[in-house]
Amino acid sequence: MHQELDTIFRKHPILTSGDCLACDVCCRFPEATSPLAPFFANDEKAMAICDGFAPDAFPPGDYGPGDVAFLRRHDCLYACPAFEHNQNACACYAARPWDCRLYPFMLTYTQDGTGITLGLDGYCPVMAERQATPAFSACAKELAAALDGPLLPDIVARRGIVTNWKEHVRPLAKLTALSEQLCKTSLGLARFLPSTAEAMAPWFRAHAGSLASHTFSGLWLWSDLFDLWWTVSYDCLIIIAQGDGDTFMIVPPLGQGDTAAAAKAGLDLIRRIDPNAPTPRIQDADAESAAVLEEAGWRISETSVEYIYDRVELAELRGNRFEKKRQMCNRFAHDHTSTWRAMTSDDLPAALALYRRWMEARCAAHPELIYTAQAEASFRCVARALREADMLGILVRILEADGVMAGFTAGYPLHDGETFHVLFEIAAPDIKGAAQTMYREFCRELIGFQSISAGTASGLPNLARTKESYRPTHRPISATLTPPLVAPPST
Ligand code: SF4
Ligand code: SF4
Repeated sequence: MHQELDTIFRKHPILTSGDCLACDVCCRFPEATSPLAPFFANDEKAMAICDGFAPDAFPPGDYGPGDVAFLRRHDCLYACPAFEHNQNACACYAARPWDCRLYPFMLTYTQDGTGITLGLDGYCPVMAERQATPAFSACAKELAAALDGPLLPDIVARRGIVTNWKEHVRPLAKLTALSEQLCKTSLGLARFLPSTAEAMAPWFRAHAGSLASHTFSGLWLWSDLFDLWWTVSYDCLIIIAQGDGDTFMIVPPLGQGDTAAAAKAGLDLIRRIDPNAPTPRIQDADAESAAVLEEAGWRISETSVEYIYDRVELAELRGNRFEKKRQMCNRFAHDHTSTWRAMTSDDLPAALALYRRWMEARCAAHPELIYTAQAEASFRCVARALREADMLGILVRILEADGVMAGFTAGYPLHDGETFHVLFEIAAPDIKGAAQTMYREFCRELIGFQSISAGTASGLPNLARTKESYRPTHRPISATLTPPLVAPPST
């Protein structure tokens, strides 16, 4: 419980509330997309909202361990929604999350994803001056022992506070037990992180020409909902995901190695991580991997398709078959003065507000759980894509109508060098023709790519109809495979 944390800081008062009240570093950020925005575990979100925190500071629903708060603009900076500018203080101080209670101490993954360290953020000017004192050392030592001991279950439950490696965080102590829980190094795994993307790149590249999810960015966007780990076995990249009591391979073994042997190794890992995994499986297998796995006894339990288009066709929208799309684009052009431009970090609040409006309209039209849960879960992926676009190589474009954001879209190139994957396209529900105009403009801009991938329809019939309406040139399969049946022991 956080009282134990507070007791440690009271016992070692290296930083006083007076220090913080006189400082202007915490709770304010130079950009809306700051990677230091506070993380709230699901119970902390509920408590903060009871304490007056705006509910729309988070995506709706509880998915994964919690959410990072959306920052609000104030003058030329962005701040946590609970920050009171006049008082220079936190409006929900008693209910502030562990992320804020720990600061300026931080928990970060090591660069190679095999460990977690307790560190000190070099941005705290007061601690920078006091870190050479015996009191600081005693505090750091006691804190590390508590976080890696009695407080470990609390940290695992709110593991979103463990952030990516950061150069400005000075490592103080490795937390061995926590590292094992969250990185699973004793199983030969490492945490799937942006800092490990380079190490995984050869296997992603070797699997070029396959599906949109077979990319680092495509998988990382799900990291708010799933814990992800990776390893290399039989010259294949194996990626394991765990979320909501489910452990599985989120993609087939990637690369040109021995797919069947790597799949077996991945299955063993799933069983060691969670011996009771209800549906160990391989998701999003391309046709070639699925064929190899079927030969090895795996069984296809489900298939969907990805939608691939000819980019030039969508950029030009010629002929009768695109007449309706053309009409919608013409209507938008007739009704509005438009601007097509790259997103900046200042666009984030408006984009998140637009997603919320889009989601509410969609959920009103399709109140079935499959649509609402999908839209809520996707909010996390969209927010991460917008926040981390530069780091992930994601292009984000904004369509404005009469100076107001009418939509935004984003995507990234696939490893074949010919296909661009459009991740999402969010248009204002009340602006006719915005969605069609965005898609056309994006395709016009993406000169150099032959094809556009729109991914799968995520099992949503109306999305499948929309994707079909753009006349795909081909539809590669994406298969889910379940493990080979184990023969019963002979009697
Ligand atoms: S940067 Fe350090 S001193 Fe300043 S408010 Fe934050 S914790 Fe307090
Ligand atoms: S919850 Fe309070 S302490 Fe934490 S970032 Fe927001 S204003 Fe600052």
